[in-house]
Amino acid sequence: MSDQDVKEPSSKPDTGAAAPAADFPAGTTDSQVVVLADHAEPAKAPRVLAIANQKGGVGKTTTAINLGTALAAVGERVLIIDLDPQGNARTGLGVDERPLSTFDVLTGQATIVAARVPTHVPRLSIVPATIDLMAFERGSGDSSGRHYRLRDCLAAMTASEEPDMATSYVLIDCPPSLNLLTVNALAAANAVLVPLQCEFFALEGLAQLLSTVEEIRVRLNPKLQIHGVVLTMYDQRTSLSDQVVDDVRRVLGEKVYTTIIPRNVRVAESPSHGKPVLLYDYRCSGSQAYIQLASEVIERERRMRAA
Ligand code: ATP
Ligand code: MG
Repeated sequence: MSDQDVKEPSSKPDTGAAAPAADFPAGTTDSQVVVLADHAEPAKAPRVLAIANQKGGVGKTTTAINLGTALAAVGERVLIIDLDPQGNARTGLGVDERPLSTFDVLTGQATIVAARVPTHVPRLSIVPATIDLMAFERGSGDSSGRHYRLRDCLAAMTASEEPDMATSYVLIDCPPSLNLLTVNALAAANAVLVPLQCEFFALEGLAQLLSTVEEIRVRLNPKLQIHGVVLTMYDQRTSLSDQVVDDVRRVLGEKVYTTIIPRNVRVAESPSHGKPVLLYDYRCSGSQAYIQLASEVIERERRMRAA
């Protein structure tokens, strides 16, 4: 496959514990979290979920940060790989620039274990990205292994981890493009999680994303599945949001998670405080929605593993 095959058109732009971890902020006694804790099943190889949509600003990074936090809250060991040169996942988690980044990992200059840094959230770490990641595509030539750099780095991480400290979820925050970075994410992932903003053109571009996923499944990663589509930034004050929800559910059916992430000012504010919304305001509607989404993700994981 050439990178051109998957390029975007130029026109578009981690328990078992019955209660939440004691080191999580006040308020985590919520019954949803207790239910969630029952679902956690540590495993040696992490489940790798690529959070992807070539459309910009649909909630990929917000979902990576807050789904990651909600999964960590119930005891999962979560690693976010920031695969976007914008580096928003790093800043949104309040992590300073570091000497090692995703670029160093993908180019073989550092291991994931060396580049990963802890966050304020227990059990949640991140491999941060910096703007130099833009050079990855240019510098990786046309070697056949270039699509598998991330997959190979994750395999090395898994091989080096102690079983009782193993990462259980890897969430990959993809850039708003179907470029070589996103191809690396899809080639490394077990499944794709697609955030879709509740807006008039919500479905626009989705066909292209789904056909890219299918192409990568056929050519690079036969195990790749669609995990689900999460509707984001739902505004209950507008009938447009309801219309979009109906349309998307009609077209995509059960692929759409039951959970809908509401448009919520606390979600929008939290990155500027360098905190996931679950630490910024645990009780707001956005936090509660991401807890519910984590519960659904874990439930789907169970079904996918059993199938
Ligand atoms: P990009 O394609 O640029 O990487 P993205 O898909 O990662 O964008 P985000 O950065 O997560 O999208 O979100 C875009 C903007 O919308 C951000 O300012 C974010 O704070 C805001 N936002 C995301 N989700 C919500 C929400 N549920 N309520 C309010 N604001 C939100
Ligand atoms: Mg982003």
